[in-house]
Amino acid sequence: MEMEVSRPLRLRCSIQNYDWGKLGEDSRVARLFSRNSGAEIDPERPYAEFWMGTHESGPSFLARGESGGPDSEPLTLRKWILENPDVLGEKVVERWGSELPFLFKVLSVAKALSIQAHPDKELAGMLHKMRPSIYKDPNQKPEMAIALTDFKALCGFVSIEELKDVLAGVPEIVELVGDEDASKVLNAKEQDGYAEVKPILQSIFTKLMSANKEAVSELVSKLKCRLNVENKIRKLTEKEQLVLLLEQQYPADVGVISAFFFNYVKLSPGEALYIGANEPHAYISGDCIECMATSDNVVRAGLTPKYRDVQTLCSMLTYKQGFPEILRGTPLNHYISRYTPPFDEFEVDCCSLLPQESLVFPALAGPSIFVVVAGEGRMQMGSAVDEATVMEGHVYFVPANGEIGLTAGTAGPLQLYRAGVNSRVL
Ligand SMILES: [Zn+2]
Repeated sequence: MEMEVSRPLRLRCSIQNYDWGKLGEDSRVARLFSRNSGAEIDPERPYAEFWMGTHESGPSFLARGESGGPDSEPLTLRKWILENPDVLGEKVVERWGSELPFLFKVLSVAKALSIQAHPDKELAGMLHKMRPSIYKDPNQKPEMAIALTDFKALCGFVSIEELKDVLAGVPEIVELVGDEDASKVLNAKEQDGYAEVKPILQSIFTKLMSANKEAVSELVSKLKCRLNVENKIRKLTEKEQLVLLLEQQYPADVGVISAFFFNYVKLSPGEALYIGANEPHAYISGDCIECMATSDNVVRAGLTPKYRDVQTLCSMLTYKQGFPEILRGTPLNHYISRYTPPFDEFEVDCCSLLPQESLVFPALAGPSIFVVVAGEGRMQMGSAVDEATVMEGHVYFVPANGEIGLTAGTAGPLQLYRAGVNSRVL
């Protein structure tokens, strides 16, 4: 079924109701999904992730009327792209075949996600082969989160200086990992390079993560008691406050203690964080736009009721140390800011228009997905006479080489995000 694609295609998208999601109307994901699909919001249910793309675990469909008559079977975006690979553009097909290389999401996080890392391409292929029921695809999954609200996360290991402070200030960790490993950290010198520090950090972190359940549970409760007592005589550090919060969410979990090893990242709206392969992280709270390579491979090791693969996690990590780079978006013009992570699969534009302002997104050699997160307006592709009304919750697939015109309505500002293949490869 070849069809002339002369306008953006509206998509009906999927959600994930993971238990860490915000409940009912409080969830941005629920509100977008309800406007996207017409579904009612269940106030008792967590709405965690809104998925826009082609991954089998949460496919997007062409909205009714886009794929033929009203009675035709719902057609997935993936199937439609396979039948019309030209919509990806030549360069994308050359590099990734007939697959959309990125997956676009909105997240509403009420409580911490698991401590996790995503495998690189080689490891992903191996894990998928060995355990296809857990690692469902053979792809790497670099990702980027752009804060829509204040957004908190743990990401990457703290510097060696900070780690020394942690060991000096958190006796429970030393108790768990032993004096020998602790003293190796304390004796590490500032000028020691990655090669010297990596084995020390790997050894102490692996010991912590693989400690037995009873020992962990006992130490977490010790830690909690100590912090609650000290809270009466001094102001706890932000990290200590976070640890108490994590303990409430995941009592007796090793992730509570391991939080001391990671950088505590607090994003303001508009700031973004990107995470490469084999870097540990855990989102803690807030709403964000997320983009990643089309994959759902997660290796988890804490703060989760799901399957834990501690051995894989501890051996795959890079153990790079230091605070992650924060992106603030590069203005392309008055209306658009671009977030460019160091990954080929994707980039994200944030676009804001005041009432009745107009803008043209120049044609790109790759495909795009647009999601409207606020306001309403009109969208048009190229010189087509067809204009689509766009509003909050609408999602559109725009084929390669499609130029998009946007005009905000009269009611309020129009805000949307565009995900596309990183321009550096187009
Ligand atoms: Zn992740």
